[in-house]
Amino acid sequence: MAGEARIIDGKAAAATLRAEIGREVAAIKAARGLVPGLHVVLVGEDPASKVYVASKEKLAVEVGMNSVAHRLPAETTEAELLAKLAELNADDSVDGILVQLPLPKHIDTGRIIDAIDPAKDVDGLHPINAGLLAGGKNGLVPCTPLGCMLLLRQALPSLAGLDAVVIGRSELVGRPVAQLLLQADCTVTIAHSRTRDLASVARRADIVIAAVGRPHMVKADWIKPGATVIDVGINRLEDGKLAGDVDFTEAVKVAGAITPVPGGVGPMTIACLLKNTLTAFRARRG
Ligand code: NDP
Repeated sequence: MAGEARIIDGKAAAATLRAEIGREVAAIKAARGLVPGLHVVLVGEDPASKVYVASKEKLAVEVGMNSVAHRLPAETTEAELLAKLAELNADDSVDGILVQLPLPKHIDTGRIIDAIDPAKDVDGLHPINAGLLAGGKNGLVPCTPLGCMLLLRQALPSLAGLDAVVIGRSELVGRPVAQLLLQADCTVTIAHSRTRDLASVARRADIVIAAVGRPHMVKADWIKPGATVIDVGINRLEDGKLAGDVDFTEAVKVAGAITPVPGGVGPMTIACLLKNTLTAFRARRG
């Protein structure tokens, strides 16, 4: 008889990771008098972005980092934003720079990401970091994919040889998580909106990573019994509740382990941002 899947608790994993980071930050401060600095740049008044920036700021403070949010008005020009980034790039006390996306439409996002010093690009989106990842040589890795891998490793002692299906091919999630799975010696399939018979593609997988943005799209009968399911999707339903891309209520009866939404990948994303800030600090300042 099939039991219920193990729930992979991202909230607890993120709290553990933040506590570890906090200890390391304290040790660096005690030994060298230095404090890793995370600078988040927000342009405009997007309500969701404001909430994200506030929680990044708060959690960076909690782990003892020097946390600064630069809140710029919506009418900030591209040139002004580039000037702000040049200033942060040149400041040695700044270890991590994150520009909160999406940017207002009059600003070219690609040009902005290209202007961040790759050594301070804690979102891992700069083409140099993406290129390093594609070559199997990690620079700074995007936070959500990093969080997915940490959760996956909690559920599965060894990933080598497993079949992984990633649904979604975005630069932010799908592509980088597929690269990390490949580095972990999985056999990786990347599915997307043009994939034929997605249900049977997903059903072959030992690991399913859903990063689509469609509530409850991945059904229980898409999942191989015992498979590990990581649900990246964050979708706001009409009743205001959050839902993942996976039909959790049914999938939990088939999967071996599964992340909930909320409380799965989401909390790991910010914890991994702090982890990346520490990684960037070490790489630049020893
Ligand atoms: P994007 O919209 O950039 O990408 C979505 C991907 O899903 C695309 O590759 C698209 O395919 C694919 N897709 C869309 N519809 C289908 C379909 N019917 N069947 C198969 N594939 C489909 O989204 P993101 O990658 O940025 O985000 C994905 C989800 O993850 C969202 O819900 C987002 O909110 C969430 N998210 C959560 C984070 C967290 O911290 N937990 C962080 C970042 C994102 P195609 O390329 O062919 O168009």
